[in-house]
Amino acid sequence: MSKMKPSTLRIGRRYRPNRLAAEYDAIVIGSGMGGLTTAALLSEVGWRVCVLEQHYTAGGYTHSYERNGYEWDVGLHYIGDVGAPTRTRKLFDFLSNGKLRWAPMDDEYDRFYVGDHVYSARAGKTGFRDNLVRQFPDEESAIDAYMELLKQVGGALSMFGMGRVMKPWMRTMAAPLLKWKTPEVMFQKTYDVLSALTDNQDLIAVICGQWGDMGVPPKQSPFMVHAMIARHYLYGGFYPVGGSWQIADSIIPKIQSGGGEVFTYAHVEKILVDDDEVRGVRMSDGHEIDCPVVISSAGVDNTFNRLLPDAVATSTGYKRSMENVRPSVGHLCLYIGLQKTAEDLGLPKTNFWIYPHNDYDKALADFVESDEAPFPVVYISFPSAKDPDYLNRHPGTTTIEIVAPAPYRLFEEWKGSTWGQRGEDYDALKDSLSRHLLAHLYDKLPQLEGEIDYYELSTPLSTEWFSAYQHGELYGLDHTPERLQQDWLTPKTRIDGLWLTGQDILTCGVTGAMMSGVLTVTAMLGMRRVSPLMKLIFG
Ligand SMILES: Cc1cc2nc3c(=O)[nH]c(=O)nc-3n(C[C@H](O)[C@H](O)[C@H](O)COP(=O)(O)OP(=O)(O)OC[C@H]3O[C@@H](n4cnc5c(N)ncnc54)[C@H](O)[C@@H]3O)c2cc1C
Repeated sequence: MSKMKPSTLRIGRRYRPNRLAAEYDAIVIGSGMGGLTTAALLSEVGWRVCVLEQHYTAGGYTHSYERNGYEWDVGLHYIGDVGAPTRTRKLFDFLSNGKLRWAPMDDEYDRFYVGDHVYSARAGKTGFRDNLVRQFPDEESAIDAYMELLKQVGGALSMFGMGRVMKPWMRTMAAPLLKWKTPEVMFQKTYDVLSALTDNQDLIAVICGQWGDMGVPPKQSPFMVHAMIARHYLYGGFYPVGGSWQIADSIIPKIQSGGGEVFTYAHVEKILVDDDEVRGVRMSDGHEIDCPVVISSAGVDNTFNRLLPDAVATSTGYKRSMENVRPSVGHLCLYIGLQKTAEDLGLPKTNFWIYPHNDYDKALADFVESDEAPFPVVYISFPSAKDPDYLNRHPGTTTIEIVAPAPYRLFEEWKGSTWGQRGEDYDALKDSLSRHLLAHLYDKLPQLEGEIDYYELSTPLSTEWFSAYQHGELYGLDHTPERLQQDWLTPKTRIDGLWLTGQDILTCGVTGAMMSGVLTVTAMLGMRRVSPLMKLIFG
């Protein structure tokens, strides 16, 4: 393994108090997709917005980093719904002024290794359906019933979003309508909904083969989120041309053109509140920035458990509300570099999902309980193969990423230690986990043995260090049916001037976080003022 060199890929402007403008209309904490979308949309209607990001680069989970001549994304492996002028695509185009381009993955965008069997998901509504029927010829009617349910839930998803921006009294008034428009299956467990259609456990496993995209296995996850993800990728997977850092890089100019800025190394220590009204933020260097509007995209755990003064979080009931939700599972990622191209090595533009057997819930429970149990899921992505521009930036090389869940407790004893200096025991644990993950890679692609030039493993502590998720969470709050029904996870908070955005107020995923930005701006401006902007974006 070659020696570690620091990343050179940095987006955003380094924070210094003397670089701040005299006044801002709004401060956004966190430069992930939720924060950037909110800031860009407000800039579009004339607001001057200051985005404060604690990391050395902007983008949140869409950031990339470079080391030793390789480049990896950290939280974006594929996006759906951007191959046609959908709402998702129109919004990306608008935010990036048309600069973001999307490269399609292979027609087989996901491959599922379930025990000894291999299955796949293929692009296109008909292609997806026919491919499932080809793999399970006796299950045609169950598959068609499943496709019908996806359609029904799809129609109800926007109502769910609308419910989030309504004022409490409006929500109460609209409750019967919302209930009427909500299919019964929405908040039922995914497994329960599917087992009413079929008892073929392999078919259920294949349909739920993307459970890692939300981090909750089928016996615990809400069908709504399952359906949202399945629909999102129905027309295939896409990757941002030039790498996932292009997302922040192409949105920031919109924020700057409104007089705003995206600052990095800008760690917010506290949200300042006087008499239940926000008055700004205090940075960790002690500098205070006055502003009557603060939008937190730092996740609700950070917002209510760390950024808000304890007394305010308690008196407004948020400390109690936080008891109803829990963090999503922590994760490992093995970042790998090779000195040959994806073509030389025969790497596909397909994600691999590797499962020990078809009972995903049991596999996860076993893994959480015992250090001896196999990984419940191992996900392998080939980012450089998906990016048609990669070889222009890093000629003659390839990258691979392997993601797996990891209980935080395994790493807890090193909490608070410094990244890169956690000692021999920590390095030994990482080495052992890396070897386990590599064994999965070699099992599926034996031609890679002996070809790896560099690898490094991130743990939940690395995610805490760089992305400020306190338990190394994959997706912010856990996506349980109970979480989706928390009526306080809305853009508007109980504190005047404080707003929320990001994956916790809607759902995870880059698109989920982006849509949360639309919800937040809608709640802030009101339907009447936001309408012309929505018309401009969506037509
Ligand atoms: C390994 C992995 C793979 C994924 N793969 C995909 C995928 O293929 N497709 C997909 O659609 N989604 C994927 N996701 C999910 C997706 O990346 C996230 O759901 C989404 O990007 C979250 O956006 P966000 O804006 O809500 O939060 P984030 O992107 O996490 O942004 C929050 C930001 O707040 C900052 N912050 C926190 N505290 C402070 C503070 N005190 N001061 C200043 N800044 C602060 C953080 O540093 C962070 O940058 C993946 C996630 C992970 C972890």
